[in-house]
Amino acid sequence: MSSIKNFKLYINGEWVESASGETFPSDNPAKPKQILGFFQKGNKEDINKAVDAAEKAFQQWSQTPAPKRGSILLIAAQLLRENKETLAREMTMEMGKVLAESKGDVQEAIDITEYMAGEGRRLSGNTTPSELRKKFAMTIRMPIGICGLITPWNFPMAIPAWKIMSALICGNAVIFKPSSDTPFCATRLVKTLERAGLPRGVLNMVTGPGDTAGMTLVRHRKIRAISFTGHKDTGAYILKEAGLKRVGLEMGGKNGIIIMDDANLDLALDGVIWGGYGTTGQRCTAASRVIVHEKIKQKFETMLVNRVRRLKLGDGLKPDTDVGPLINKTAQEKSARYAQLGKDEGARLLIGGKKPKMDGFFFEPTLFTDCAVDMRIAQEEIFGPIVSIIPVKNFNEAIETINSIEYGLSSAIYTNDVSKAFEAITRIEAGLTYINSSTIGSEVHLPFGGIKNTGIGAREGGIEGINEFSEIKTVYIDYSGKLQRAQIDLD
Ligand code: NAD
Repeated sequence: MSSIKNFKLYINGEWVESASGETFPSDNPAKPKQILGFFQKGNKEDINKAVDAAEKAFQQWSQTPAPKRGSILLIAAQLLRENKETLAREMTMEMGKVLAESKGDVQEAIDITEYMAGEGRRLSGNTTPSELRKKFAMTIRMPIGICGLITPWNFPMAIPAWKIMSALICGNAVIFKPSSDTPFCATRLVKTLERAGLPRGVLNMVTGPGDTAGMTLVRHRKIRAISFTGHKDTGAYILKEAGLKRVGLEMGGKNGIIIMDDANLDLALDGVIWGGYGTTGQRCTAASRVIVHEKIKQKFETMLVNRVRRLKLGDGLKPDTDVGPLINKTAQEKSARYAQLGKDEGARLLIGGKKPKMDGFFFEPTLFTDCAVDMRIAQEEIFGPIVSIIPVKNFNEAIETINSIEYGLSSAIYTNDVSKAFEAITRIEAGLTYINSSTIGSEVHLPFGGIKNTGIGAREGGIEGINEFSEIKTVYIDYSGKLQRAQIDLD
């Protein structure tokens, strides 16, 4: 008999098998033969059960004082903190990123949980003067109802936490559908909230395929909001199928770093290495395009190749590993396809470009130069350790180049010219711009999200995260004792 554990769905405060009884494995991308566990293939029936549980739980939870909801979140944050090391190690085993980055992921989950716990004591609306005498006007926040949260695998604890904590503090009930690549981390997060004392049915987790479990959630008429993070094509399909409900979409990126001729090149080098190859390039905010002023191009290329050559591929649990594996075989093959495409398109390969002879889904850190702005490697999200250098003649061309993509998530510019920095802030089409820092590094109390084909207006984190998961109600209190008609009784 196998000693590998079977994990369950979490519905109405209980850990249960899926209606189908079917399971799927989650493996270690650095050692694909290592199975971490089997997880339930949730389907329509399971989602329906979760909706029934959430509907009941919502009645109580939405009426629970928000500071009290916050105190449960605060306990959850404490539990996450106590278990940070273990959770991070498990994360590295499930999705491959190096241990320090996994610790950062768990820390981000702790931070957003603490932040949202504090929001329980704010959740503020506005008061404003009425145009009539003896009349009071204000807005208050209301929960939306049952929210369906669909998440990717690349931040297996931070992204679910951003959504779950924001939804819960606003008084919503939640059905969480995590990625099938990281159900283990998802289960750990849900167990933490269970241990923190979250009432039954308030948070439900259904693991399983996107096109069955996920799509049932999206189409369900009792679900009032869907918050999705993932691929652009999945997001577009969700938007089409969701019907009349609120939909928040956080999708892909093809983020650029501009390096001007006056930049501190050592600083820029650190930024490109971290942005391009951190998390093996599997970040929505990964810096996959480096837009370099032609005056410093050759020097910077040499510096970059020297650093890329020293990046050590390996298991993220080993202390000397710089770059871990890709999430799965499909992702590895995708990187190989794009490396070939880059060569076919006429970009010049400086280093990398192959699958190394290693077990696991590794791909060499890869660098192309002399890329044209319209090449597919410089336009499409690869989600792997492949960086394209695009040379430009001047600042205007750099701005045009950085904007020449369908996405609009993150961006960066390295320059010591304060005027150029400010001009870049206002001209770059992206949800985030970093000055003299890489494209990654968001903090939970500031909004996060993108424009163009990256997102449709929603932002997560900070007060914007509260806006995503609450409705505003306008309240008028007339204490004049007579009928006062707005716009008519003007005296
Ligand atoms: P994905 O779109 O394949 O999957 C995301 C989630 O959607 C998973 O839980 C999946 O099961 C579910 N899903 C798939 N098909 C579905 C369907 N038909 N209906 C409902 N749900 C469905 O994305 P992924 O590979 O897990 O993640 C990588 C992508 O996520 C990249 O494009 C990356 O840029 C993006 N991402 C964006 C952000 C951001 O905040 N903008 C953050 C992280 C990742």
